[in-house]
Amino acid sequence: MLTYDTLTSLPADVAGPSYALDAVTPGIIHFGVGNFFRAHLAYYIDRALALPDSQHWGIIGVGLRAGERSEKKEKDFAAQHGLYSLTETATDGTRHTRVMGALRDYLLAPREPETVLDLLAAPSTKIASLTITEGGYNIDETTGQFRLSFPPVQEDLADPTHPKTVFGFIVEGLRRRRDAGHGGLTILSCDNLRQNGEVSRKAFLGYARAVDGELAEWIEANVTFPNAMVDRITPSVSAETAAKLNKQSGLDDLKPLLAEDFTQWVVEDKFAAGRPALEKVGVQFSDAVADYEHAKIRMLNASHLIISAAGMLQNVPLVDQVLAEPKVRQFVDEVLDRDVIPTLHAPEGVDLREYKQTILNRFANPALADQVARIAADSTSKAQVFWTETVRSVLSRDHDHTRVAYFLALQLELMRGRQEDGQSFDLPEPVLTDEQRNIARSDDYRASLALPGFDSWRDLLTSKVEDDIVAFRQAIREKGVLESLPL
Ligand code: NAD
Repeated sequence: MLTYDTLTSLPADVAGPSYALDAVTPGIIHFGVGNFFRAHLAYYIDRALALPDSQHWGIIGVGLRAGERSEKKEKDFAAQHGLYSLTETATDGTRHTRVMGALRDYLLAPREPETVLDLLAAPSTKIASLTITEGGYNIDETTGQFRLSFPPVQEDLADPTHPKTVFGFIVEGLRRRRDAGHGGLTILSCDNLRQNGEVSRKAFLGYARAVDGELAEWIEANVTFPNAMVDRITPSVSAETAAKLNKQSGLDDLKPLLAEDFTQWVVEDKFAAGRPALEKVGVQFSDAVADYEHAKIRMLNASHLIISAAGMLQNVPLVDQVLAEPKVRQFVDEVLDRDVIPTLHAPEGVDLREYKQTILNRFANPALADQVARIAADSTSKAQVFWTETVRSVLSRDHDHTRVAYFLALQLELMRGRQEDGQSFDLPEPVLTDEQRNIARSDDYRASLALPGFDSWRDLLTSKVEDDIVAFRQAIREKGVLESLPL
């Protein structure tokens, strides 16, 4: 097992923390301790902890969900003192493994709610960060407002001092902070959302207003919500991958992690209570984050979802394998060249066609073995976040909508949950009700166009576009993905 003791005898090519773990104190509390957080925020903080006078930026992770998986995670992190190894792999096969020390503790909020609230209220906590998934912000895509009617939110509103949701915890923590005179903090979203800071502001203030108007005003005045673009492909780690990673590294790690060697984080420099010297460890600070995030979300995430839907339907499990098929690569290339890039504003100094090549090369990295099922899960939320601007811009002007109609057809076939060979699959779609899932699985082509995944562009669906989507769905079923691609 990987523990403090292991750090003194790491294998020769595995690096360990270059700072004293005992000297690290918590300054960040992170909600949603998944793989991406461990490979991205925790990676940058691990590097920042090695800077002089920076040891007060350790991270305490918080899990909000009770249940077996969370308890296992809690047990594993406790056994390893929060340590885990990250292996970064390049497309040419080279790799580097380092033990990360930034995560200093992991708390299960349902078991220790008061500890979590005390931490949020502590003056030493300066940042509350989040990776709670695209759908986790609980925003109604039609109204753009926080959904107060969501049952877990209703439960927190009925008893705000005993919260269960991330909104309930952070807002109650902020109330305690205000009452103790400890000042505000930064709420830092690291999820793949356009304007993730603005979305967080809307969500947390939407909840806070429903609890206490004065508290909401205090939050508005004392809490900041920087927008950020986050980028690093971080696959899920199966038991088989974990065993392989341990074999390669020579470690006996319960939570080994794999990521590509590329990483990027562009953030607005709006931190209410200070921040680590992240600019010294590769983070870019910018006032034009929107340009970076639009380019990334509309190019990388959007095409990732298209590739993954194609892979799920063809029963090809890994992203690099799907993209190795020239027809898929050509289709993605054409969508980006013809439908996405012409309507994007390039970040300063970035050539979008070169950026596209970099993205496609990253997707082609076989060492990542990135699963299409990971990317295609929660496709309803993701499609809205990643595709809306492209779909709206194509459908609202006199522009060939063929490729858009095709990937919308792919999306609906994905939600139907049946591969080309007739086998069924079942991916999580947490924002759909049972009734909506049944519609998605049915053969009623028209009814599925009314599903929430289409909310953001339904007003633009002319009968011609709808007919084309239906025709593509039929073609996908009759001829398969490769033979029906409109090239
Ligand atoms: P993951 O499944 O490993 O982790 C997700 C974590 O979020 C889990 O701990 C889960 O319990 C928690 N969570 C889920 N829904 C929640 C909710 N409603 N409230 C609170 N916590 C919740 O997934 P991951 O790969 O770490 O990805 C998480 C997010 O990170 C993505 O949704 C995306 O926005 C962002 N991201 C991921 C990648 C990547 O390549 N994996 C890249 C860029 C950004």
